[in-house]
Amino acid sequence: MEPGLAIRPIHDTDSTMTQFEPLTPDSLSRLRELLGDNGVLTDPVALSAYGVDETEDVDFRPEAIALPETKEQVAAVLGLAGEARFAVTPRGGGTGLSGGALPVYGGLSLSLERLNRIRFIDEVNLTVEAEAGLITADLQRAVEDLGLFYPPDPASHDSCQLGGNIAEDAAGPRSCKYGTTRNWVLGLEAVLSNGTVIRTGSATRKNAAGYNLTQLLIGSEGTLAVVTAALLKLTNMPRLRLTLAAPFSSLQGAARAVSRLFVAGVDPAACELMEARALELVARLTPIPDQLANAAALLLLELDGDDSDALLERAAKASDIFDEQEQVEVIIAQESSDQRRLWEIREKIAIAVREYSVYKEADTVVPRSELANLVEKARRVAKDRQLEAVCYGHAGDGNLHVNLLRGDLAAATWKRNRDAAEAELFEWVTSVGGSVTGEHGIGWSQRRYLPLAALPGSIEVMRALKSAFDPAGILNPGKIFADE
Ligand SMILES: Cc1cc2nc3c(=O)[nH]c(=O)nc-3n(C[C@H](O)[C@H](O)[C@H](O)COP(=O)(O)OP(=O)(O)OC[C@H]3O[C@@H](n4cnc5c(N)ncnc54)[C@H](O)[C@@H]3O)c2cc1C
Repeated sequence: MEPGLAIRPIHDTDSTMTQFEPLTPDSLSRLRELLGDNGVLTDPVALSAYGVDETEDVDFRPEAIALPETKEQVAAVLGLAGEARFAVTPRGGGTGLSGGALPVYGGLSLSLERLNRIRFIDEVNLTVEAEAGLITADLQRAVEDLGLFYPPDPASHDSCQLGGNIAEDAAGPRSCKYGTTRNWVLGLEAVLSNGTVIRTGSATRKNAAGYNLTQLLIGSEGTLAVVTAALLKLTNMPRLRLTLAAPFSSLQGAARAVSRLFVAGVDPAACELMEARALELVARLTPIPDQLANAAALLLLELDGDDSDALLERAAKASDIFDEQEQVEVIIAQESSDQRRLWEIREKIAIAVREYSVYKEADTVVPRSELANLVEKARRVAKDRQLEAVCYGHAGDGNLHVNLLRGDLAAATWKRNRDAAEAELFEWVTSVGGSVTGEHGIGWSQRRYLPLAALPGSIEVMRALKSAFDPAGILNPGKIFADE
């Protein structure tokens, strides 16, 4: 492709398309002046790679990719975009599952991958400041080497970035005890769409000065500002961990046990649920011990702490709670190699589903008391439309990923049935007090569902905030709101 030639999105978008200019040869040469020749990519291979993330079935190529190395360069790129009116889509590791990093209006993909330094680790105040492009697992390893702990643990941690985690308020198995990314951010360094660099928050554990811009930017999916660095809280690494695998012969029993664990104060660091079909698919990839493989539902728990007696006491309490529901033969793994083998079952589900069928993942979240009903409802809406539903995920947070599988349906029927099934599922989810995404964000692919999760008045305030931060609308356009 020739530099400067605008690529039209593969999918239809709305009329906002006309408000952006293509990246002209002049804009490209100004970008190269700012970032150097190797800081701007326009070759077709790169454009294809930055035109997808981990969302199924979507592909929007940018016209160019910018690879800044400093916040000043990010600011200069945004300044130029405002002047030349091309769209800018921030990009982290490209692991997003709602199409947030896809440049749906073309323009520039602004990748933070080269801003990947740890600026400092403060072992006295238990904080770390790192740049947005740092891979999450690199951050975790660096602090763990010092005996410290940064708990947010999206399963994609080997390839997602801190900035992407902040933009999505990423969570993971441990969030049922430790909270999501937002619970660990003290302050942000970010660049507004007009090129102004701001700092939010402070280095203190408390700060009541003015509006909390830090928390507003977290979860804003790259639509309000580009995050260039974050000051994060750390804690001490728990010395001990236990993993419990509890195979239930009924889904209802497993789901009821989840709520009881929290009421009884077992305080699991992770509490994951996999229903029978998820186990069956994983078994195609990796051997699963018989006593787990035939379960109607498997609960995987992690307990952590520093006192082994107290930990074993909590494990015994968890076993009692399971037995109140039905007789459950629990496996307790104390050695890290045994724990790893159990966690592999959970970690392989996504790949097992992907290898089995084309699918669409609905990131449902409900009050814990509704977990069994959620799985029943998912099965029903899928069956009514000749689909299959596979449910698994972060039960401790009430957050189950419902995978709707295409099987051998024709493409047009699949699309129609999938959309209808998903819409009915989300209508039910919100009717019981849940939401249309627990951790993957609205992005591009879930925009039509935002009105189910937020009243019109709230959406109006969100739009007003978007206009205040980004009056020209050049930053990650086409995301979150259905009809810009
Ligand atoms: C196998 C797999 C497992 C996953 N497991 C989990 C999980 O357990 N929990 C979970 O929450 N998610 C999970 N995800 C989803 C995904 O990894 C997270 O949403 C992650 O936070 C995305 O980070 P990223 O760096 O890849 O961001 P990208 O996908 O590149 O971008 C995501 C969004 O963030 C914006 N963005 C990126 N960087 C910046 C920045 N510096 N400033 C402003 N905006 C920015 C983008 O514009 C986009 O809107 C998983 C994904 C996969 C593929």
